[in-house]
Amino acid sequence: MVSTAYDPASGKKIGTFEASNPSDVPDIYERSRFAQQYWSSLSIKKRISYIRLLRYTLAEVQEEAASIIAASTGKTKTDALTDEILASLDAMKQVEKDAPLVLAKDKRKTPLHLAGKSSYVDRKPRGSVLIISPWNFPFQLGIIPVVEALAMGNSVVLKPSEFTPMVGELLKRFAAIFPEDVFQVVIGDGEFGEALTTHQPDFIHFTGSVAVGKSVQKAAAEQLTPTVLELGGKDPLIVCEDANVTRAAKGAVWGAFHHSGQICLSVERVYVHEAVYAGFLSEVKRETARLRQGRDEDADVGSMTTKKQLEIVKEHVQDALNKGAVLESGLEPKYWNDEDMFLQPMILTDVTHDMKIMQEETFGPIMPVMKVHSETDALELANTTSYGLGGSIFTKDLTKGEAMAHQLRTGNVNINDVMKSIVNPYLPYGGVGDSGIGKSRGRAGMQSFCIETSVLVDK
Ligand code: NAD
Repeated sequence: MVSTAYDPASGKKIGTFEASNPSDVPDIYERSRFAQQYWSSLSIKKRISYIRLLRYTLAEVQEEAASIIAASTGKTKTDALTDEILASLDAMKQVEKDAPLVLAKDKRKTPLHLAGKSSYVDRKPRGSVLIISPWNFPFQLGIIPVVEALAMGNSVVLKPSEFTPMVGELLKRFAAIFPEDVFQVVIGDGEFGEALTTHQPDFIHFTGSVAVGKSVQKAAAEQLTPTVLELGGKDPLIVCEDANVTRAAKGAVWGAFHHSGQICLSVERVYVHEAVYAGFLSEVKRETARLRQGRDEDADVGSMTTKKQLEIVKEHVQDALNKGAVLESGLEPKYWNDEDMFLQPMILTDVTHDMKIMQEETFGPIMPVMKVHSETDALELANTTSYGLGGSIFTKDLTKGEAMAHQLRTGNVNINDVMKSIVNPYLPYGGVGDSGIGKSRGRAGMQSFCIETSVLVDK
């Protein structure tokens, strides 16, 4: 079925796309399984040559690709280039380098009572894998796990978000680089996603909300299908007594407002030691006042992507204000325009942990700031939500910073920076608690897409 796609900020038509539906699912997997037999028979060197061609092609068309991503999401083109295209190119390069190492015979020690025998772990593809991706980074959150899975010898069915279908169409162009049906992109809604999930893929890699992640996990449990789940976050940023306040303020503004806060690793809560609280607050307000919202390449912050998310963000702010929070920066609710997808960045103080803004994922350009008496209090508060995706710590004492990082119950931590650990493709990535299960990225990410067989050999 052919449907129309719109730019979220302007409402203008940006193209048409071909959507699939649940009745297409059996055929999709049949073709995928057939293609996987051929694909897995190719040498790793040959498979990597396809991935390299994909990387070169993406580099050649990066301007056009970034324009499509920007028009589909409301992010600026510069953000599309850096966060989506460059991140993908970097990850592809890492896959090209590390895939042969992941697939090499992984020799292990053999104890004395098994003298004369040898042992190793053999990694092989899982088969036909399903990858489901969200709208906030519609390109890189699709293509990076796809490339990891393909390198390991799997065929892939990728279902991108229905909110960014033109990026789905763009991904189809890259899928055509591979032999037929090895990499299929199928565009559709949640009902279609559910049908793909229940139709026995050999593995599911899901990136999205906690609620949908749990339903994917339930469906997978029925068939004992293994999964990786990359879900939401409520990331804390801690400003210690000895922090460089200017750096911390710049980090907080970037972390909270970049891509209008629509990042799973966005800074969603800030805990500031009372000794530096006043200085930090005035610096974040000054930095925030300098931000410019818009669609042009010089803009710092783009628009929100979906109306649904915009409503959630407004509800969280309203709830906080009703419970006594103070709006230090940004527009008061009475000036909000229901039709405007550009939500001005907001800083809230006097926030408490009974407010949604301190407990639930907001996913918008809001920075709630809380004064704390000690770093111990900050750590305790940071660990109180059900999420555990990322966190940031600002301190000049790196020994203390690393000790605090060890105490944060999260899958990722940045010390004196925000969100950067994910752009190092050599680091594994993933959350704990409600933020997910398993690892993506790095060698661990590729290993997720493999069956591991332990082999013992007697001569
Ligand atoms: P979402 O869960 O609503 O949708 C994600 C994908 O799942 C979409 O493709 C959607 O069509 C599909 N889907 C919906 N219902 C389904 C079902 N029943 N079965 C199978 N698939 C189904 O998430 P979203 O709104 O697109 O994305 C925002 C969320 O994603 C936020 O919570 C954000 O934190 C999270 N996210 C997490 C990461 C991470 O790496 N941890 C990265 C980006 C986004």
